[in-house]
Amino acid sequence: MEKPEKIYLASPHMGGEEMKYIQEAFDTNWIAPLGKNVNQFEKEMADYVGLKAGAALSAGTAALHLGLKALGVGEGDVVFCSSLTFSASANPIIYLGAKPIFIDSEPETWNMSPAALEKAYEKYPHPKVVVIVDLYGQAADYERLLAICKAHHTSVLEDAAEALGATYQGQKCGTLGDLSVLSFNGNKIITTSGGGMLLGNDEALIQKVRFWSTQSRENERHYEHKELGYNYRMSNIVAGIGRGQLKVLEKRVTKKKQIFETYQEAFKQNSDIEMMPISDQGKPNYWLSCMTLKEGSAVKPLDIMLALEKENIESRPIWKPMHLQPYFKKYPFFSHCDRENEQSIAEDIFNRGVCLPSDTKMTEADQQRIIKIVKELF
Ligand SMILES: *Cc1c(COP(=O)(O)O)cnc(C)c1O
Repeated sequence: MEKPEKIYLASPHMGGEEMKYIQEAFDTNWIAPLGKNVNQFEKEMADYVGLKAGAALSAGTAALHLGLKALGVGEGDVVFCSSLTFSASANPIIYLGAKPIFIDSEPETWNMSPAALEKAYEKYPHPKVVVIVDLYGQAADYERLLAICKAHHTSVLEDAAEALGATYQGQKCGTLGDLSVLSFNGNKIITTSGGGMLLGNDEALIQKVRFWSTQSRENERHYEHKELGYNYRMSNIVAGIGRGQLKVLEKRVTKKKQIFETYQEAFKQNSDIEMMPISDQGKPNYWLSCMTLKEGSAVKPLDIMLALEKENIESRPIWKPMHLQPYFKKYPFFSHCDRENEQSIAEDIFNRGVCLPSDTKMTEADQQRIIKIVKELF
């Protein structure tokens, strides 16, 4: 029998206007490197979130790297970072020769635990920066986290790579740190095929990041370098895709929310399945619909992933926490839990969780097929 058409976890979904901006770049021969699309994409994104400036870069990882550098991180500094995240949140700390300290999640949002953050400050009172991740499209508890960081005079870098379009207490994700990072990687809610942006209100600092990202070329006729440079700038073609994608962001959020709510409704009778908790502090973008299986459930996350895979449907485990990664496990970790030997919240979510297919191109029938496969396991 022929395999049914593949359903993806989250794949690129063009809106229709992307080609118009790309064509414009071709017509004016502004293929590379800079040009109108880059400047306009930065302006349109900064306007969308309500900040003064953005630097369009080649990846979210590049934005994290230069964001940490802009906040003063260098050799030997301590940087606090959410443990339950994609490795790109942590790698740039190492690029800069700094030391990551990993912070556990709270059960309420799966994001950085204020209690664990307090514990980290007791042992390490002077981190240079705290990297707070908005996981799976939901904001962290900024009211509590920022109060702690402020009391210790620490800058915050918000990793909003997964959370463009979400809000916290009415404020857009991407505006909650001193600087904030977006990603336009292929699986994100909007994509440019690859790319990222660093956002902030300090225009001079964002301009400095643009300077670093274009090899730190001084304003001279010859190539003059007083500082270390990077080749991290976004190309004008890529920015054209971004301008088109930004136009359909709200549509994508609406569809993602509908996908989440359809799963929630379908599984509400199943006492073994819990959808990711949604805090009343904000509105997520529902980038991925994630669920956990109750402790002791006969069905395990792997059973769900294998059953879907057999039907050509993509799903994923929850991010494996950084403090459990072979590369990072030598760095300190602070748990949300107080009892010794008690499993951390991040590890527990990793062990019991699954990311369900959340592709915005999915039809209602596709999703019902997924739900049926999952239900039949019980
Ligand atoms: C995708 C992602 C990034 C990195 O973005 P790239 O554009 O792929 O470099 C960083 N942090 C988180 C949490 C992400 O999900």
